[in-house]
Amino acid sequence: MKILIVGGGIGGLTAALCLHRVGFEVEILEAVPEILPLGVGINLLPHGASVLHRLELRERLDSVGVRTRAIEYRTKFGHVITSDLRGTEAGFEFPQYSIHRGLLQMILLNTVRERIGTHRIKTGRKVEAFAQNDSGVTAFFTDMSTGKNAGSTEGDILIGADGFHSNIRRQLHPNEPPPRYEGMMMWRGVSYFAPFGDGRTMFIAGNHDIKLVCYPISLNLDNCGNIPINWVAESRQGNPREAITADWNRLGDASFIQHFHDFTMHDIDVRLLLESAGDIFEYPMVDREPLPSWGEGRVSLLGDAAHPMYPVGANGASQAILDGEELASSMEKYPPMEALRKYEGNRLTRTKEVVLANRKWGPEKVLDIADKRISSSTDRVEDFITAEEIEEVARAYRDVAGFRKKMDAL
Ligand SMILES: Cc1cc2nc3c(=O)[nH]c(=O)nc-3n(C[C@H](O)[C@H](O)[C@H](O)COP(=O)(O)OP(=O)(O)OC[C@H]3O[C@@H](n4cnc5c(N)ncnc54)[C@H](O)[C@@H]3O)c2cc1C
Repeated sequence: MKILIVGGGIGGLTAALCLHRVGFEVEILEAVPEILPLGVGINLLPHGASVLHRLELRERLDSVGVRTRAIEYRTKFGHVITSDLRGTEAGFEFPQYSIHRGLLQMILLNTVRERIGTHRIKTGRKVEAFAQNDSGVTAFFTDMSTGKNAGSTEGDILIGADGFHSNIRRQLHPNEPPPRYEGMMMWRGVSYFAPFGDGRTMFIAGNHDIKLVCYPISLNLDNCGNIPINWVAESRQGNPREAITADWNRLGDASFIQHFHDFTMHDIDVRLLLESAGDIFEYPMVDREPLPSWGEGRVSLLGDAAHPMYPVGANGASQAILDGEELASSMEKYPPMEALRKYEGNRLTRTKEVVLANRKWGPEKVLDIADKRISSSTDRVEDFITAEEIEEVARAYRDVAGFRKKMDAL
């Protein structure tokens, strides 16, 4: 049984490892000629980390990432509205990680090379389309270096893990409407800075229309005693509307920083942080309407190709990773095509809930509540917002996003 995986991102590589572990032959077809450690920071929730620990990657994750201890929701004046423990500190069996996306991808890639074989990853092959019949499925690709048709590969099953702009999804669902842009633009970067707080806490500050997310992605100090701090600065550019270009590698400029001049944190100089980043990347807050079904016959979808979501609540990579384990578990138990439909049945509803919950702003609703009521740095949070209001927001998202302490609740 040969499984073709289109896309060697976080989801595709994890799926390959999970499928290989239960005895399947896999081949990864990746568009870029060379997989490089691109991106900035991401978060892995405990349920996503649990999959990677079961793949025996704990030590590798610990060597490059940060076990996030807590998340603070702050006003733009720096008040801590609420602080929520994360990962093992919150009683979960597995940690939450803040990690550089590219380094996570390299951990997965190197593990695929070691366990499955370098020859199983075919780079420079951009899959344009597939064809399936009773005996198998064929992927047709172009060579990225020449831009020309470069042939085809055959397998028994094909998984489209080809990200937000998935060609496999487009062929399966040709009449889908364009992506949905929330109206928020995100500027992302990594700055080398002195550790803030306890060195393992992240914060989200501001309100629905202007927001700053900040977290360390490594504990390894450089020669100046600094660590890489990932930040995401978000600012509303208009109301929700249809598609605009979404490219994770698009560079932005520093002019957005003016919108953050009144952000004052007691433990970090926000302006200096934003100004001292290397590259600044610009990415719009985009998702797609959840699909009523993912695949058909020998073909299915996984990760962002299946359920692209706003990067809110740290679920993009985590849900892609969970897909990979669920797919392998289903393939192990059932005949191939039945296995794909069972996998989709188990993952579609859960991920749809997360996509929709992220549109409602997930756990970050407390920011808006506080922002409307607190207007100066001398205000006291407890005079304006109750503990019950805060817990209600957190509980609602916990239930949907599946990071309750019992892992069987996924
Ligand atoms: C270069 C890059 C940088 C990113 N940076 C960030 C970041 O900083 N922060 C963040 O939150 N998220 C980032 N993301 C998105 C994040 O990785 C995903 O949201 C999440 O991890 C889900 O993973 P995925 O495997 O479904 O998709 P992705 O990680 O996007 O992987 C999809 C893979 O498929 C490949 N691919 C696409 N089309 C084809 C095709 N037709 N044929 C073959 N291969 C194809 C892509 O090159 C990519 O390797 C980035 C994605 C990419 C590709």
